[in-house]
Amino acid sequence: MGHSWRVMPTPVHTKVQTYNNFIDGEWIASRSGAVFENRNPADQNDLIGAFQQSSAADAQAAVDAAARAFERWRLVPAPKRAEILFHAAELIVQRKEQFARDMTREMGKVLEETRGDVQEAIDMTFFMAGEGRRQYGQTVPSELRDKFAMSVRQPLGVCSTITPWNFPMAIPSWKIMPALVCGNTVVFKPATLTPLSALNFVKVLEDAGIPEGVVNFVTGGPDVGTLLSTHDAVRVVSFTGSTSVGRTVNENAAPGFKKVHLEMGGKNIIMIMDDAQLELAVEGCLWGGFGTTGQRCTAASRVVVHETVYDAFVEQFTRRAKALRVGNGLDEKNQVGPSVSESQLQTVMKYVDIGQKEGATLLAGGHRLEKGELAKGFFHEPTVFGDVHPQMRIAQEEIFGPVVSVMRCRSLAEAIEIGNGVQYGLSASIYTRDINKAFTAMRDTYTGLFYVNAPTIGAEVHLPFGGTKATGNGHREAGTAALDVFSEWKSIYVDFSGKLQRAQIDTQEL
Ligand code: NAD
Repeated sequence: MGHSWRVMPTPVHTKVQTYNNFIDGEWIASRSGAVFENRNPADQNDLIGAFQQSSAADAQAAVDAAARAFERWRLVPAPKRAEILFHAAELIVQRKEQFARDMTREMGKVLEETRGDVQEAIDMTFFMAGEGRRQYGQTVPSELRDKFAMSVRQPLGVCSTITPWNFPMAIPSWKIMPALVCGNTVVFKPATLTPLSALNFVKVLEDAGIPEGVVNFVTGGPDVGTLLSTHDAVRVVSFTGSTSVGRTVNENAAPGFKKVHLEMGGKNIIMIMDDAQLELAVEGCLWGGFGTTGQRCTAASRVVVHETVYDAFVEQFTRRAKALRVGNGLDEKNQVGPSVSESQLQTVMKYVDIGQKEGATLLAGGHRLEKGELAKGFFHEPTVFGDVHPQMRIAQEEIFGPVVSVMRCRSLAEAIEIGNGVQYGLSASIYTRDINKAFTAMRDTYTGLFYVNAPTIGAEVHLPFGGTKATGNGHREAGTAALDVFSEWKSIYVDFSGKLQRAQIDTQEL
């Protein structure tokens, strides 16, 4: 995805606040002193602040600090590390409303949703704090007498966390909290569109007492990301973002044999069967398709409807989509905020054009909104295409905006085939009252997440989260699955027989 930041000489403007990097426990400017602007996507006149346009050298300093801090942090007992996380969670609870407002202001989604984003960070932080007293390993019998066998989780070292702008606090928490509780140190590079929410999160960790160097924060673009994917001291790269950048990160990290955890794009589907509760399905498609202005990796950007209920569904869905209130997310009357940037809005408009040229029927929306206050931001009408063929680009490619493609099917088998017929594999859902259909779809849809009678969004922090195919590379975040990303197993054998015993060779008397 493109970014709309501009590099500027420093100092910017006396009234504009400039925010620094956090390296080795100090808030410091980048070496070059260059900064970039952070503006409100609902109102481009609203300049939120200037953030450090860091270079590889700044990122290097952060990795070095994290590498030094690892030698101490790995020896802190996990329940003690967890105490800092518990404290951090409490601080986020106290600051929740301000954090939600900052987030809406910098990336546009409506307040109700940014409160949810902050809440997810709270939930994840409490959950991972609890893991400070678990991180269970195994104790198993040895095949030899007087020998003890067990496995324990070990931290890996410095973890790079590279995050997107659409969940600016939740996603960093999914990575940083499990990394910390496992005993790793962190260098965090947020998306350039959402540095304030990232900074708010880091400030919480500082205030909660995280030791210097354990969490480092560097804002900037691909130069920072490249250093964080290639530096020798980095052992884990945890990335969430687009599939194309994820591929680059994967390639950059491969020669150093780093553990690479990738969460990437999606083209998720809601399947609506002939026996579905139609109003419930319409509600789900509105929330799944237009929540976060369609800018969720799990957005329900495709809907496939059984032909017998297609017309009824399309009539209701289109009517409801047209009635959604679009505007500044800080105004609680609004249901849909802006696209995050001009380039993201241009992508939406490009796909609206592609869809029409491909022969899909434009049923709702299709235009940029520019009347009155809306002219100040990147607003677009909630858009519905009907008569979409599964092979059209609008049904295959991630648009990341308020555009839903509706298709027809004649059977469950066809719906599943359409569902699986894209390069991505993050989330899918089915609306049906037939338990056999629900279980068949659950089994045969090749995604990391599946919902029954609910939209494709709504993950909870204590279950694994992630996708298949071009969405992910086999790892999962959240839940205890996240511990598998941020720790590795050590198997330990203790022989207390006082003699050499050889596994697989020495046979024991019963
Ligand atoms: P993006 O790929 O443009 O950027 C993601 C991050 O990578 C940013 O911090 C960016 O600065 C950084 N980056 C850019 N170039 C880099 C490089 N060469 N090396 C290292 N880092 C680099 O994505 P975005 O526009 O911020 O976010 C939207 C995308 O994220 C969508 O594709 C969406 O589906 C995906 N996403 C996926 C999930 C998931 O869990 N699967 C969740 C949220 C978002």
